[in-house]
Amino acid sequence: MADEYHGKTCASPNCNKIANLQCPTCLKLGLSGSFFCEQACFKNAWKEHKKVHLKTELKVNDTGEALSGTQLSNLLLDTIQNPWPDFQYTGKLRPFYPLSKKRHVPAHIQRPDYADQKEGLPLSEITSKRSTQIVQLSPKEIEGMRVVCKLAREVLDIVAKAVRPGITTDELDRICHEATIERNCYPSPLNYYQFPKSCCTSVNEVVCHGIPDQRKLEEGDIVNLDVTCYYNGFHGDLNETLFVGNVDESSKHLVKTAYESLIAAANNIKPGARYRDMGQHIQNVAHANGCAVTRTYCGHGIHQLFHTAPNVPHYAKNKAVGIMKPGHVFTIEPMINQVFEYKIFLGTWRDLLWPDNWTAVTQDGRRSAQFEQTYLVTETGFEILTARKNNRPYFLDQLDEIPI
Ligand SMILES: [Zn+2]
Ligand SMILES: [Zn+2]
Repeated sequence: MADEYHGKTCASPNCNKIANLQCPTCLKLGLSGSFFCEQACFKNAWKEHKKVHLKTELKVNDTGEALSGTQLSNLLLDTIQNPWPDFQYTGKLRPFYPLSKKRHVPAHIQRPDYADQKEGLPLSEITSKRSTQIVQLSPKEIEGMRVVCKLAREVLDIVAKAVRPGITTDELDRICHEATIERNCYPSPLNYYQFPKSCCTSVNEVVCHGIPDQRKLEEGDIVNLDVTCYYNGFHGDLNETLFVGNVDESSKHLVKTAYESLIAAANNIKPGARYRDMGQHIQNVAHANGCAVTRTYCGHGIHQLFHTAPNVPHYAKNKAVGIMKPGHVFTIEPMINQVFEYKIFLGTWRDLLWPDNWTAVTQDGRRSAQFEQTYLVTETGFEILTARKNNRPYFLDQLDEIPI
């Protein structure tokens, strides 16, 4: 029998210890979160932590005692920055609101069907969703995919070069948006099921679909940049995880493992291979390195539709349908999580959503890393349509190592 890890980590900044002490005031106020590892940590975090109480008291007793001007402005600022103060976060990362205004895409740029749809519904995609049929692209369509994937790679390269401590993820989104429209592309994530931004920026414990906001990247963070462009009727999709300044050894190990798991799967792409087998190659690498594989999100077919058949799970023993044929185009994009050493194969692949309904985080607040490319199945093997010119991921440049 297997159990799952349900422990909490200490709510004090920069402390990752297991926490069993709950703040007594929080308990009295009926707040669910705020565990600390020991009294000393609780005392250190008090100045910040008590704002949580003020906020709740303000809400339950609106005729209650007046707050001082500074107290009130701190409180308001904090409420604006963190839109869900009562949400029990799994790790240290917090959203930083307000989000910037929706960015403009010039009228001359060709837009996918969801771009101006009120609910952001990709209607053509929804119509075809019932089919597991994988489309073999014509030479002309393949050419369309080559072009858009190359443009998406150029955009990611530009955003990657801007990653540094102190830059906000919203600024990375602005850079992405501008580089995209400069190339007469539409940024595919924008308004896709109402996603509010032009790319995903997933920091630390965010598994995927992080929304760019006002938080500044900090030394020691890891950040995944997920870029998709739409050009001349086709989507091209890729992502990379980068280091922000100097990161700890376990984050280096995680990012390297995520990258190697993608390579291991991709090396098996060829006509006749089964889509369901990709997950085994990924999981082998992840488990051999003491990491877990996220099961909720999969790779996907991509061409005129952003997400379509085939479905490509990243874990072993999945039931995905389909055999690779020349002209198939799809992504592989494993999300690999850090785990406790003694719980390697238990529960820790699990993720949950922030209340924004997009940001997927690990359930234990540990870090997650991801790499993605768009692949074309050729007569003899595969072509990486979103490959970087030197075929090298940015984190290896950052590590200054020899190419894998
Ligand atoms: Zn994708
Ligand atoms: Zn992507």
